[in-house]
Amino acid sequence: MITFACDRCQKKIDSKQELRFVVSVEVEAAMDFDEEDRPDHEYLNELQELLESLDTVDCAEISDKAYQKKSYDLCEQCCQEYLKNPLAIEHAAPMGCSNN
Ligand SMILES: [Zn+2]
Repeated sequence: MITFACDRCQKKIDSKQELRFVVSVEVEAAMDFDEEDRPDHEYLNELQELLESLDTVDCAEISDKAYQKKSYDLCEQCCQEYLKNPLAIEHAAPMGCSNN
């Protein structure tokens, strides 16, 4: 029998007793080149500069940052917590909403 552990709270998840949730996160760098608004040669110059700058850094590191896909096993409770705040924003309550 395969047992899973929650990646957030480390609790063992017994799939016969409770639901296991898999959260898949896909992060990719957005390339927002505005090709229509600029002459071709300008675009090529920028591309050339970009390629030259890449020579000096670790290409594997760049591609790690440009695209990442991860998946996590979560117990039901942690899944609910994750969905409340998927971006892990520290201040959950919006400012100025107090009734006092
Ligand atoms: Zn958990």
